[in-house]
Amino acid sequence: MRSQDHDRLFLSPPHLGRHEINYVHKAIEDNWVAPAGPNLTGFEADICQATGVAHCVALSSGTAAIHLGLILLGVGPGDEVLCPSFTFVATANPILYVGATPVFVDSEADTWNLCPDRLREAITDRIARGKKPKALLLVHLYGMPARLTEILAIAAEYELPILEDAAEALGSCFNNKPLGSFGTVGVFSFNGNKILTTSGGGALVTNDAALAQKARFLATQAKDDAPHYQHSEVGYNYRLSNILAGIGRGQMELLCERVKRRREIFAWYKEHLACLPGLGVAPATEPAGSRSNRWLTTVLLDPTETTATPETVRLQLETHNVESRPLWKPLHLQPLFVGAPMYGGSVCANLFDRGLCLPSGTAMTEADLRRVAEAVAEGLPVPVS
Ligand SMILES: *Cc1c(COP(=O)(O)O)cnc(C)c1O
Repeated sequence: MRSQDHDRLFLSPPHLGRHEINYVHKAIEDNWVAPAGPNLTGFEADICQATGVAHCVALSSGTAAIHLGLILLGVGPGDEVLCPSFTFVATANPILYVGATPVFVDSEADTWNLCPDRLREAITDRIARGKKPKALLLVHLYGMPARLTEILAIAAEYELPILEDAAEALGSCFNNKPLGSFGTVGVFSFNGNKILTTSGGGALVTNDAALAQKARFLATQAKDDAPHYQHSEVGYNYRLSNILAGIGRGQMELLCERVKRRREIFAWYKEHLACLPGLGVAPATEPAGSRSNRWLTTVLLDPTETTATPETVRLQLETHNVESRPLWKPLHLQPLFVGAPMYGGSVCANLFDRGLCLPSGTAMTEADLRRVAEAVAEGLPVPVS
């Protein structure tokens, strides 16, 4: 079978460098695998340096960081949290953990992120209905900066704190300022599929020293300041281990290189898929001031130009043992969130119907990229007449 001819090409597999092993080795040699240790403080310092944020707390996952972020912003039972519909479920699950309700907002076409017009509509409508949302969960999907100028102005106008989900956007910038540094609290993920990985891990960043201290406290079982085990608040076991932080230190050395390579891969696909009818990389351009890490190269199909669909292309790639995935399915279309308020919805639903993510791992060779492009071309034989 043809699919056995090559090794499988994955969407975004881990890509380790040469130094991770040294940090891990040192932790084991020093018998310092736990508790928090030099790799953990080093990893947090590396993240602060890369993002320009004053404080960082390394955690067991990005989801854990969003959960703690919501608690830090005072979100609790009965509260409403504004959130894009077009995102991974991990953005919104923690809203449910704290007993709050997501209020979903549609995307806009240029960045695929939160539409400022729909956002304003959602805020004014929620206020008119008697409840002002407690916070805004802002996401930069596939590494592309959201419409920050407009969104920050709206958030300031309504005094809404921002929890910035930059899980996919480590290394992206807006007006030369790193994403993750725009919210009251920012979140990164070091899951296995992200631009850098600790196998599993996350981080919470903030410029507020008291919030960072509170995050550390909550992440380590909320133990009060007493010689015995004294607890007044619900705590969590969310701290990253000193071993995994060692992997993170090695990975952080590579951030610039990895962003450069992801952007090269995007540019390669853009150039080499340009000739195909009815398919193109998207969002094709970065709005002024935006610099995406291009975590995943994504393409859109145009049904007026081709009969191929994301699913037929995906299956075609499978015959070449190449993994691809549909874009995130909007959360307002998920059974989990039936009944949640939604403002707009056609933009992200349309993106989901037309889009596909292509293999974008930084270890891919030119031959790997050609293999993907040729398989995609095979999947687009018939232009619509
Ligand atoms: C990966 C991801 C998360 C969650 O991160 P984990 O480390 O996997 O828990 C949250 N939001 C978005 C947008 C993500 O892509």
